[in-house]
Amino acid sequence: MGRRPRDRDRPLTVVGAIDTDFSPQVKAVLDVGARSYQHAVKVAFEAKRRWWEQDYGIYGGISWTTRDITQMWYPSAGIHGRKGILLGAYFWLGGRGPIFSAMTPEQRAAVALADGEALFPGYRDLVHRPVSVAWKNVPFQSGAWSAWDEDTRRDAYSVLLPPDGPYWFAGEHMSHLNSWQEGAIRATHHVLERIQERVSAQRTGRD
Ligand SMILES: Cc1cc2nc3c(=O)[nH]c(=O)nc-3n(C[C@H](O)[C@H](O)[C@H](O)COP(=O)(O)OP(=O)(O)OC[C@H]3O[C@@H](n4cnc5c(N)ncnc54)[C@H](O)[C@@H]3O)c2cc1C
Repeated sequence: MGRRPRDRDRPLTVVGAIDTDFSPQVKAVLDVGARSYQHAVKVAFEAKRRWWEQDYGIYGGISWTTRDITQMWYPSAGIHGRKGILLGAYFWLGGRGPIFSAMTPEQRAAVALADGEALFPGYRDLVHRPVSVAWKNVPFQSGAWSAWDEDTRRDAYSVLLPPDGPYWFAGEHMSHLNSWQEGAIRATHHVLERIQERVSAQRTGRD
C-alpha cells in the first residue's frame, strides 16, 4: 500500500523536535525555520468598571506607545457593560519578546502597570488580576510566528515547500503572510489543492 499524503500543520519549533523519518535535506532546515520564530508576550487586566469608556470616551481600538508595553487594546465588545478585560501590554517589537518571555508573570505585570500609569494616571487602581501569555513558553507552540529573512526563505523555506514523500508542510510558517491567519489559511489551501491533485491523478491512473 502506498504512503498516504499527510498535511503537517504544526509549528516548525515543534516539528523539528519530533523523531521523524523526514529526508536529511528537510531535517537539516527544520531547525533553521524554528530559529526564525519571533517571540511575543501579552498581558491582560480585568477592570472593575469600563473607565476608558466612561472617563475617556474610548470605544475599542489600540493605543500605540513608545514604552515597553508597546500597545494597549480596548475591548470592542461589551460596550457600556459593567466590567471589561483590557490588553495592557503586547511585547514583541524591539527585541522585547525574548526579554519579557524570560520574566515571571508578576514582573511583566509590574512593567505593564508602570507603563499604563504613564498613559492613565491612577491606572494601578483601575485594573487588577493580571494574566500574561508568552508564546515561547506555551507547550506545542514554542514561539509566536515565523519570520523568514531573505536567506532563510531561499535556503530553508524553499526546501519545505515541495512534499517530502507523503509529508507536506502547511500553515502560517509556509506562507508569505507570516504572523497572520490569512497566511496560514492560504498556505494550507495551497497544500490541500496539491494533495487533491496528487490523489486524483493516482485514482485516474488506476481507472
Ligand atoms: C500573539 C499573537 C498574535 C496574533 N495576532 C494575529 C492577528 O491579530 N491577526 C491574525 O490574522 N493573526 C494573528 N496571529 C497569527 C495567527 O494566530 C497564526 O498565523 C495562525 O494561528 C497560525 O495557524 P496555523 O494553523 O499555521 O498554526 P497554529 O494555529 O499554531 O496551529 C498549530 C497547531 O498544532 C498543534 N500541535 C503542536 N504540536 C503538535 C503535535 N505534536 N501533535 C499534534 N498537534 C500539535 C498546536 O497545538 C496548534 O494547535 C497572531 C499570533 C500570535 C502568536
